[in-house]
Amino acid sequence: MQNRTYAADVTAGESATVAGWVHEIRDLGGIAFLILRDTSGKLQIKLEKDEMDEDLVETGLGVHRESVVSVTGDVKEEPRAPTGFELVPESIEVISEADPELPLDPSGKVDAELPTRLDNRTLDLRKPEVKAIFEIRAEVLRAAREAFRDLNATEITTPKIVATGTEGGTELFPITYFGREAFMNQSPQLFKQLMAGSGLETVFEIGPIFRAEEHNTPRHLNEATSIDFESAFADQHEAMDAAEEIVVAVYEAVAENCEEQLDALGLAETFEVPAGDFPRLSYEEAIERVNATGALDEQLVFGDDLSTEAERALGEDVGTFYFITSWPSEVKPFYIMDEDDDETLSTGFDMMHPRMELVSGGQREHRHEKLVEGFEQQGLDPEQFEYYTKMFKYGMPPHAGWGMGAERLVMTMLGLENIREAVLFPRDRQRLSP
Ligand code: ATP
Ligand code: MG
Repeated sequence: MQNRTYAADVTAGESATVAGWVHEIRDLGGIAFLILRDTSGKLQIKLEKDEMDEDLVETGLGVHRESVVSVTGDVKEEPRAPTGFELVPESIEVISEADPELPLDPSGKVDAELPTRLDNRTLDLRKPEVKAIFEIRAEVLRAAREAFRDLNATEITTPKIVATGTEGGTELFPITYFGREAFMNQSPQLFKQLMAGSGLETVFEIGPIFRAEEHNTPRHLNEATSIDFESAFADQHEAMDAAEEIVVAVYEAVAENCEEQLDALGLAETFEVPAGDFPRLSYEEAIERVNATGALDEQLVFGDDLSTEAERALGEDVGTFYFITSWPSEVKPFYIMDEDDDETLSTGFDMMHPRMELVSGGQREHRHEKLVEGFEQQGLDPEQFEYYTKMFKYGMPPHAGWGMGAERLVMTMLGLENIREAVLFPRDRQRLSP
Protein backbone atom coordinates (compact mmCIF):
# COMPACT_ATOMS: atom_id res chain seq x y z
CA MET A 1 0.00 0.00 0.00
CA GLN A 2 1.58 3.22 -1.16
CA ASN A 3 2.10 6.04 1.34
CA ARG A 4 1.26 3.80 4.28
CA THR A 5 2.96 4.58 7.59
CA TYR A 6 3.19 1.97 10.35
CA ALA A 7 1.60 2.95 13.66
CA ALA A 8 4.99 2.88 15.39
CA ASP A 9 6.60 5.14 12.77
CA VAL A 10 4.33 8.20 12.77
CA THR A 11 5.94 11.61 13.25
CA ALA A 12 4.25 14.46 15.14
CA GLY A 13 3.49 17.46 12.97
CA GLU A 14 3.17 15.39 9.79
CA SER A 15 0.22 13.98 7.92
CA ALA A 16 0.07 10.18 7.70
CA THR A 17 -2.05 7.36 6.35
CA VAL A 18 -2.16 4.37 8.67
CA ALA A 19 -3.88 1.06 7.98
CA GLY A 20 -4.73 -1.87 10.21
CA TRP A 21 -7.37 -3.37 12.46
CA VAL A 22 -9.83 -1.67 14.80
CA HIS A 23 -8.53 -2.85 18.16
CA GLU A 24 -11.00 -1.01 20.30
CA ILE A 25 -13.42 1.92 20.29
CA ARG A 26 -13.64 4.00 23.46
CA ASP A 27 -16.61 6.33 23.41
CA LEU A 28 -16.31 8.92 26.18
CA GLY A 29 -19.24 11.11 25.12
CA GLY A 30 -18.07 14.25 23.38
CA ILE A 31 -14.85 12.57 22.44
CA ALA A 32 -14.12 9.01 21.31
CA PHE A 33 -11.00 7.07 20.52
CA LEU A 34 -10.56 4.44 17.86
CA ILE A 35 -7.46 2.37 18.62
CA LEU A 36 -5.91 1.11 15.41
CA ARG A 37 -3.53 -1.85 15.52
CA ASP A 38 -1.03 -2.97 12.90
CA THR A 39 1.99 -5.27 12.99
CA SER A 40 4.13 -2.53 14.53
CA GLY A 41 1.82 -1.59 17.40
CA LYS A 42 -1.16 0.64 18.11
CA LEU A 43 -2.17 4.21 17.42
CA GLN A 44 -4.93 6.33 18.97
CA ILE A 45 -7.30 8.02 16.50
CA LYS A 46 -9.21 10.90 18.05
CA LEU A 47 -12.85 11.52 17.14
CA GLU A 48 -14.38 14.79 18.32
CA LYS A 49 -18.11 14.59 17.81
CA ASP A 50 -18.97 18.27 17.73
CA GLU A 51 -15.98 19.47 15.79
CA MET A 52 -15.54 16.87 13.11
CA ASP A 53 -17.48 15.98 10.01
CA GLU A 54 -20.56 13.97 11.02
CA ASP A 55 -20.01 11.21 8.45
CA LEU A 56 -16.42 10.79 9.52
CA VAL A 57 -17.38 10.39 13.19
CA GLU A 58 -20.19 8.03 12.27
CA THR A 59 -17.87 5.83 10.23
CA GLY A 60 -15.28 5.78 13.00
CA LEU A 61 -17.78 4.90 15.72
CA GLY A 62 -19.90 2.52 13.67
CA VAL A 63 -17.19 0.16 12.53
CA HIS A 64 -16.98 -3.23 14.27
CA ARG A 65 -13.89 -4.34 16.16
CA GLU A 66 -11.28 -6.13 14.04
CA SER A 67 -12.49 -4.49 10.83
CA VAL A 68 -9.69 -3.34 8.54
CA VAL A 69 -9.55 0.41 8.07
CA SER A 70 -7.23 3.03 6.70
CA VAL A 71 -7.11 6.47 8.28
CA THR A 72 -5.48 9.66 7.00
CA GLY A 73 -4.87 12.72 9.13
CA ASP A 74 -2.44 14.83 11.13
CA VAL A 75 -0.28 13.30 13.83
CA LYS A 76 -0.02 15.17 17.11
CA GLU A 77 2.00 14.58 20.19
CA GLU A 78 -0.35 13.51 23.01
CA PRO A 79 1.21 12.46 26.31
CA ARG A 80 -2.05 10.86 27.46
CA ALA A 81 -2.21 8.54 24.43
CA PRO A 82 -0.76 5.02 24.95
CA THR A 83 2.10 5.64 22.50
CA GLY A 84 2.49 9.38 23.07
CA PHE A 85 0.92 10.22 19.70
CA GLU A 86 -2.55 10.51 18.31
CA LEU A 87 -3.91 10.98 14.83
CA VAL A 88 -6.64 13.49 14.06
CA PRO A 89 -8.46 12.02 11.06
CA GLU A 90 -9.45 13.72 7.85
CA SER A 91 -10.76 10.53 6.33
CA ILE A 92 -11.55 6.98 7.46
CA GLU A 93 -12.01 4.21 4.95
CA VAL A 94 -13.44 0.85 5.96
CA ILE A 95 -11.54 -1.60 3.79
CA SER A 96 -12.93 -4.85 5.16
CA GLU A 97 -15.75 -5.03 7.69
CA ALA A 98 -15.50 -7.67 10.44
CA ASP A 99 -18.46 -9.66 11.68
CA PRO A 100 -19.59 -8.36 15.10
CA GLU A 101 -19.44 -11.93 16.44
CA LEU A 102 -15.79 -12.95 16.75
CA PRO A 103 -14.77 -16.55 17.56
CA LEU A 104 -11.83 -15.23 19.55
CA ASP A 105 -11.04 -11.87 21.12
CA PRO A 106 -7.70 -10.55 19.81
CA SER A 107 -7.62 -7.80 22.41
CA GLY A 108 -6.98 -10.57 24.94
CA LYS A 109 -9.69 -9.41 27.32
CA VAL A 110 -11.46 -12.75 26.96
CA ASP A 111 -9.18 -15.79 27.26
CA ALA A 112 -9.55 -18.58 24.73
CA GLU A 113 -8.69 -22.27 25.10
CA LEU A 114 -5.90 -23.65 22.91
CA PRO A 115 -8.22 -25.54 20.50
CA THR A 116 -10.21 -22.35 19.83
CA ARG A 117 -6.98 -20.47 19.30
CA LEU A 118 -5.69 -23.12 16.89
CA ASP A 119 -8.96 -23.08 14.96
CA ASN A 120 -8.66 -19.30 14.55
CA ARG A 121 -4.94 -18.71 14.16
CA THR A 122 -5.45 -15.60 12.03
CA LEU A 123 -7.18 -13.86 14.92
CA ASP A 124 -4.94 -15.50 17.52
CA LEU A 125 -1.80 -14.07 15.90
CA ARG A 126 -3.20 -10.57 16.17
CA LYS A 127 -2.28 -10.83 19.85
CA PRO A 128 1.23 -9.46 20.43
CA GLU A 129 2.24 -12.30 22.75
CA VAL A 130 1.24 -14.94 20.21
CA LYS A 131 2.70 -13.12 17.22
CA ALA A 132 5.93 -12.82 19.26
CA ILE A 133 6.30 -16.62 19.44
CA PHE A 134 6.36 -16.87 15.66
CA GLU A 135 8.63 -13.88 15.20
CA ILE A 136 11.05 -15.52 17.63
CA ARG A 137 10.64 -18.85 15.84
CA ALA A 138 11.60 -17.11 12.57
CA GLU A 139 14.65 -15.57 14.25
CA VAL A 140 15.62 -19.01 15.62
CA LEU A 141 15.58 -20.49 12.11
CA ARG A 142 17.38 -17.49 10.61
CA ALA A 143 20.10 -17.60 13.26
CA ALA A 144 20.46 -21.39 12.93
CA ARG A 145 21.03 -21.00 9.18
CA GLU A 146 23.64 -18.33 9.78
CA ALA A 147 25.42 -20.44 12.41
CA PHE A 148 25.44 -23.45 10.05
CA ARG A 149 27.14 -21.27 7.46
CA ASP A 150 29.88 -20.59 10.03
CA LEU A 151 30.26 -24.37 10.33
CA ASN A 152 30.76 -24.51 6.54
CA ALA A 153 27.56 -26.51 6.10
CA THR A 154 25.54 -26.43 2.87
CA GLU A 155 21.75 -26.27 3.14
CA ILE A 156 20.02 -29.19 1.44
CA THR A 157 16.41 -30.29 1.00
CA THR A 158 15.57 -33.99 0.68
CA PRO A 159 12.42 -35.94 -0.27
CA LYS A 160 9.52 -36.18 2.15
CA ILE A 161 7.82 -38.91 0.12
CA VAL A 162 9.87 -42.08 0.51
CA ALA A 163 9.72 -45.81 -0.16
CA THR A 164 10.88 -46.96 3.29
CA GLY A 165 10.93 -45.72 6.89
CA THR A 166 14.01 -45.43 9.06
CA GLU A 167 13.03 -44.75 12.65
CA GLY A 168 10.78 -47.71 13.39
CA GLY A 169 7.82 -49.07 11.48
CA THR A 170 4.96 -48.23 13.81
CA GLU A 171 5.38 -44.48 13.47
CA LEU A 172 5.04 -44.42 9.69
CA PHE A 173 2.34 -42.63 7.73
CA PRO A 174 1.56 -44.68 4.63
CA ILE A 175 0.37 -42.91 1.47
CA THR A 176 -0.52 -44.05 -2.02
CA TYR A 177 2.01 -43.14 -4.65
CA PHE A 178 0.58 -43.86 -8.13
CA GLY A 179 -0.85 -47.14 -6.89
CA ARG A 180 2.24 -48.08 -4.88
CA GLU A 181 2.64 -47.88 -1.11
CA ALA A 182 4.90 -45.06 0.02
CA PHE A 183 5.45 -43.17 3.28
CA MET A 184 5.90 -39.67 4.63
CA ASN A 185 9.52 -39.42 5.76
CA GLN A 186 10.23 -39.70 9.50
CA SER A 187 13.63 -38.01 9.19
CA PRO A 188 16.15 -36.99 6.52
CA GLN A 189 18.65 -39.36 8.19
CA LEU A 190 19.63 -41.54 5.26
CA PHE A 191 19.67 -38.73 2.69
CA LYS A 192 21.84 -36.43 4.78
CA GLN A 193 24.28 -39.30 5.36
CA LEU A 194 24.44 -39.89 1.62
CA MET A 195 25.36 -36.21 1.25
CA ALA A 196 28.06 -36.40 3.95
CA GLY A 197 29.71 -38.91 1.61
CA SER A 198 29.29 -36.57 -1.36
CA GLY A 199 31.42 -33.65 -2.35
CA LEU A 200 29.38 -31.44 -0.01
CA GLU A 201 30.75 -33.17 3.12
CA THR A 202 28.94 -30.96 5.67
CA VAL A 203 25.22 -30.37 5.24
CA PHE A 204 22.16 -29.19 7.12
CA GLU A 205 18.45 -29.30 6.47
CA ILE A 206 15.51 -27.56 8.13
CA GLY A 207 12.35 -29.34 7.10
CA PRO A 208 9.28 -31.32 8.11
CA ILE A 209 9.38 -34.80 9.63
CA PHE A 210 6.28 -36.96 9.94
CA ARG A 211 5.63 -39.36 12.79
CA ALA A 212 2.46 -41.27 13.50
CA GLU A 213 2.93 -40.91 17.27
CA GLU A 214 0.51 -43.18 19.10
CA HIS A 215 -0.47 -40.69 21.78
CA ASN A 216 -1.16 -36.99 22.02
CA THR A 217 1.40 -35.48 24.37
CA PRO A 218 2.35 -31.84 25.14
CA ARG A 219 5.69 -32.38 23.35
CA HIS A 220 4.97 -34.57 20.34
CA LEU A 221 3.59 -33.49 16.98
CA ASN A 222 2.71 -35.66 14.03
CA GLU A 223 4.34 -33.16 11.73
CA ALA A 224 7.38 -31.47 13.25
CA THR A 225 10.25 -29.36 11.96
CA SER A 226 13.64 -30.95 12.24
CA ILE A 227 16.93 -29.08 12.18
CA ASP A 228 19.37 -31.68 10.86
CA PHE A 229 23.16 -31.64 10.61
CA GLU A 230 25.62 -34.14 9.19
CA SER A 231 29.36 -33.82 8.68
CA ALA A 232 32.05 -35.98 7.08
CA PHE A 233 35.21 -36.73 9.04
CA ALA A 234 33.44 -35.85 12.29
CA ASP A 235 32.93 -38.01 15.37
CA GLN A 236 30.22 -37.77 18.02
CA HIS A 237 32.22 -35.26 20.09
CA GLU A 238 32.50 -32.85 17.18
CA ALA A 239 28.82 -33.36 16.40
CA MET A 240 27.99 -32.43 20.01
CA ASP A 241 30.18 -29.32 19.71
CA ALA A 242 28.19 -28.31 16.62
CA ALA A 243 24.83 -28.87 18.36
CA GLU A 244 25.97 -26.77 21.29
CA GLU A 245 27.16 -24.00 18.96
CA ILE A 246 23.81 -23.86 17.19
CA VAL A 247 21.83 -23.69 20.44
CA VAL A 248 24.02 -20.95 21.90
CA ALA A 249 23.98 -18.96 18.62
CA VAL A 250 20.21 -19.15 18.43
CA TYR A 251 19.73 -17.98 22.02
CA GLU A 252 22.21 -15.14 21.46
CA ALA A 253 20.36 -14.00 18.35
CA VAL A 254 17.00 -14.02 20.14
CA ALA A 255 18.45 -12.08 23.09
CA GLU A 256 19.91 -9.53 20.71
CA ASN A 257 17.20 -9.17 18.08
CA CYS A 258 13.91 -10.01 19.80
CA GLU A 259 13.78 -7.66 22.76
CA GLU A 260 10.29 -6.46 21.91
CA GLN A 261 8.99 -10.01 21.46
CA LEU A 262 10.53 -11.24 24.72
CA ASP A 263 8.92 -8.27 26.40
CA ALA A 264 5.51 -9.16 24.91
CA LEU A 265 5.94 -12.64 26.39
CA GLY A 266 6.98 -11.29 29.78
CA LEU A 267 10.46 -12.82 29.42
CA ALA A 268 12.59 -9.68 28.97
CA GLU A 269 13.94 -9.85 32.52
CA THR A 270 14.50 -13.58 32.82
CA PHE A 271 15.74 -14.63 29.37
CA GLU A 272 19.17 -16.23 29.67
CA VAL A 273 21.67 -17.20 26.99
CA PRO A 274 23.28 -20.54 27.92
CA ALA A 275 27.03 -20.25 28.46
CA GLY A 276 28.01 -23.35 26.47
CA ASP A 277 30.20 -26.20 27.75
CA PHE A 278 27.12 -28.27 28.43
CA PRO A 279 27.97 -31.13 30.83
CA ARG A 280 28.39 -34.47 29.02
CA LEU A 281 27.17 -37.33 31.21
CA SER A 282 27.58 -40.89 30.12
CA TYR A 283 24.38 -42.92 30.05
CA GLU A 284 25.62 -44.91 33.05
CA GLU A 285 26.30 -41.74 35.04
CA ALA A 286 22.91 -40.43 33.98
CA ILE A 287 20.94 -43.42 35.24
CA GLU A 288 22.92 -43.47 38.48
CA ARG A 289 22.10 -39.83 38.97
CA VAL A 290 18.42 -40.37 38.25
CA ASN A 291 18.35 -43.26 40.73
CA ALA A 292 20.09 -41.13 43.35
CA THR A 293 17.38 -38.45 43.13
CA GLY A 294 14.89 -40.99 44.47
CA ALA A 295 12.22 -39.52 42.17
CA LEU A 296 11.36 -42.83 40.50
CA ASP A 297 9.35 -45.68 41.97
CA GLU A 298 11.54 -48.19 40.19
CA GLN A 299 15.30 -47.86 39.82
CA LEU A 300 16.64 -47.67 36.27
CA VAL A 301 18.87 -50.48 35.07
CA PHE A 302 21.30 -50.59 32.13
CA GLY A 303 19.35 -50.78 28.88
CA ASP A 304 16.33 -48.76 30.04
CA ASP A 305 15.31 -45.74 28.02
CA LEU A 306 14.71 -42.61 30.09
CA SER A 307 11.02 -42.10 30.78
CA THR A 308 9.51 -38.62 30.90
CA GLU A 309 9.73 -38.73 34.72
CA ALA A 310 13.39 -39.78 34.56
CA GLU A 311 14.18 -36.94 32.11
CA ARG A 312 12.47 -34.48 34.41
CA ALA A 313 14.25 -35.69 37.55
CA LEU A 314 17.64 -35.58 35.84
CA GLY A 315 16.93 -32.18 34.27
CA GLU A 316 16.07 -30.72 37.66
CA ASP A 317 19.21 -32.24 39.15
CA VAL A 318 21.55 -30.94 36.39
CA GLY A 319 19.77 -27.61 35.96
CA THR A 320 21.27 -26.66 32.56
CA PHE A 321 21.44 -28.02 29.03
CA TYR A 322 23.42 -31.26 29.09
CA PHE A 323 24.31 -34.27 26.96
CA ILE A 324 23.79 -37.94 27.64
CA THR A 325 26.47 -39.92 25.78
CA SER A 326 27.43 -43.58 25.32
CA TRP A 327 23.92 -44.97 25.17
CA PRO A 328 23.48 -48.75 25.10
CA SER A 329 23.71 -49.87 21.46
CA GLU A 330 20.41 -51.73 21.75
CA VAL A 331 18.33 -48.59 22.33
CA LYS A 332 19.88 -46.61 19.46
CA PRO A 333 19.08 -47.14 15.75
CA PHE A 334 21.11 -49.33 13.39
CA TYR A 335 22.91 -46.46 11.70
CA ILE A 336 24.65 -45.38 14.95
CA MET A 337 28.20 -46.67 15.37
CA ASP A 338 29.28 -48.66 18.42
CA GLU A 339 32.09 -47.41 20.60
CA ASP A 340 35.54 -48.69 19.58
CA ASP A 341 36.28 -50.65 22.71
CA ASP A 342 32.81 -51.80 23.75
CA GLU A 343 30.18 -53.16 21.37
CA THR A 344 27.40 -52.85 23.96
CA LEU A 345 27.83 -49.09 23.99
CA SER A 346 27.09 -46.73 21.12
CA THR A 347 28.39 -43.33 20.05
CA GLY A 348 24.79 -42.12 20.22
CA PHE A 349 24.02 -39.03 22.28
CA ASP A 350 21.06 -36.88 23.25
CA MET A 351 21.16 -33.20 24.06
CA MET A 352 18.73 -32.36 26.81
CA HIS A 353 17.08 -29.18 27.94
CA PRO A 354 16.26 -29.52 31.65
CA ARG A 355 12.63 -30.09 30.60
CA MET A 356 13.08 -32.61 27.75
CA GLU A 357 15.14 -34.11 24.93
CA LEU A 358 16.01 -31.65 22.17
CA VAL A 359 18.52 -33.51 20.02
CA SER A 360 19.55 -37.05 19.15
CA GLY A 361 22.74 -37.77 17.27
CA GLY A 362 25.87 -39.83 17.02
CA GLN A 363 28.67 -41.05 14.86
CA ARG A 364 27.33 -43.14 12.01
CA GLU A 365 28.32 -46.63 10.94
CA HIS A 366 30.21 -46.04 7.68
CA ARG A 367 31.58 -49.56 7.22
CA HIS A 368 29.42 -51.33 4.63
CA GLU A 369 29.50 -54.79 6.19
CA LYS A 370 28.71 -53.58 9.69
CA LEU A 371 25.92 -51.39 8.39
CA VAL A 372 24.21 -54.29 6.59
CA GLU A 373 24.53 -56.43 9.75
CA GLY A 374 22.88 -53.62 11.72
CA PHE A 375 19.87 -53.62 9.39
CA GLU A 376 19.41 -57.35 9.89
CA GLN A 377 19.72 -57.04 13.68
CA GLN A 378 17.00 -54.39 13.68
CA GLY A 379 14.71 -56.62 11.61
CA LEU A 380 14.93 -54.42 8.52
CA ASP A 381 15.48 -55.86 5.06
CA PRO A 382 18.81 -54.47 3.77
CA GLU A 383 17.69 -55.03 0.17
CA GLN A 384 15.02 -52.37 0.56
CA PHE A 385 17.72 -49.92 1.54
CA GLU A 386 20.15 -50.83 -1.21
CA TYR A 387 20.01 -47.32 -2.65
CA TYR A 388 21.59 -46.23 0.62
CA THR A 389 23.93 -49.09 1.59
CA LYS A 390 25.33 -49.27 -1.96
CA MET A 391 26.95 -45.86 -1.57
CA PHE A 392 28.90 -47.16 1.41
CA LYS A 393 30.85 -49.33 -1.06
CA TYR A 394 32.23 -46.38 -2.99
CA GLY A 395 34.20 -44.45 -0.42
CA MET A 396 32.14 -43.37 2.60
CA PRO A 397 34.10 -41.28 5.12
CA PRO A 398 33.47 -41.53 8.85
CA HIS A 399 30.71 -39.05 9.65
CA ALA A 400 28.48 -37.85 12.46
CA GLY A 401 25.44 -35.65 12.92
CA TRP A 402 22.17 -35.03 14.72
CA GLY A 403 18.54 -33.95 14.49
CA MET A 404 17.06 -31.20 16.66
CA GLY A 405 13.34 -30.51 17.04
CA ALA A 406 12.72 -26.87 16.12
CA GLU A 407 9.43 -26.71 18.01
CA ARG A 408 10.98 -28.19 21.15
CA LEU A 409 13.78 -25.65 20.88
CA VAL A 410 11.27 -22.77 20.75
CA MET A 411 8.98 -24.34 23.35
CA THR A 412 11.74 -24.79 25.94
CA MET A 413 13.31 -21.42 25.13
CA LEU A 414 10.03 -19.60 25.79
CA GLY A 415 8.71 -21.85 28.53
CA LEU A 416 5.61 -22.83 26.53
CA GLU A 417 3.46 -25.49 28.16
CA ASN A 418 2.38 -27.18 24.96
CA ILE A 419 4.42 -27.78 21.79
CA ARG A 420 1.36 -26.86 19.72
CA GLU A 421 1.85 -23.23 20.75
CA ALA A 422 5.08 -23.21 18.73
CA VAL A 423 3.38 -24.37 15.51
CA LEU A 424 0.99 -22.31 13.42
CA PHE A 425 -1.17 -25.23 12.32
CA PRO A 426 -0.26 -28.28 14.39
CA ARG A 427 -0.98 -31.83 13.33
CA ASP A 428 -1.97 -34.25 16.07
CA ARG A 429 -4.26 -37.27 16.28
CA GLN A 430 -7.41 -35.15 16.17
CA ARG A 431 -6.22 -32.13 14.27
CA LEU A 432 -5.98 -32.27 10.49
CA SER A 433 -7.27 -28.79 9.68
CA PRO A 434 -6.70 -25.93 9.52
P1 ATP B 1 11.16 -38.69 21.99
O1 ATP B 1 11.86 -39.86 22.61
O2 ATP B 1 11.21 -37.46 22.83
O3 ATP B 1 9.80 -39.01 21.49
P2 ATP B 1 12.73 -39.36 19.71
O4 ATP B 1 13.95 -39.85 20.39
O5 ATP B 1 11.74 -40.35 19.21
O6 ATP B 1 12.00 -38.31 20.65
P3 ATP B 1 14.40 -38.57 17.53
O7 ATP B 1 14.10 -39.59 16.51
O8 ATP B 1 15.62 -38.73 18.36
O9 ATP B 1 13.13 -38.41 18.49
O10 ATP B 1 14.35 -37.13 16.81
C1 ATP B 1 15.30 -36.09 17.04
C2 ATP B 1 14.63 -34.88 17.67
O11 ATP B 1 13.50 -34.48 16.87
C3 ATP B 1 14.04 -35.13 19.04
O12 ATP B 1 15.04 -34.99 20.04
C4 ATP B 1 12.98 -34.05 19.12
O13 ATP B 1 13.56 -32.79 19.46
C5 ATP B 1 12.47 -33.97 17.70
N1 ATP B 1 11.27 -34.79 17.55
C6 ATP B 1 11.21 -36.11 17.25
N2 ATP B 1 9.95 -36.53 17.19
C7 ATP B 1 9.17 -35.46 17.41
C8 ATP B 1 7.75 -35.26 17.47
N3 ATP B 1 6.90 -36.26 17.25
N4 ATP B 1 7.30 -34.02 17.74
C9 ATP B 1 8.15 -33.00 17.95
N5 ATP B 1 9.49 -33.13 17.92
C10 ATP B 1 10.00 -34.35 17.65
MG1 MG C 1 15.89 -39.27 20.33
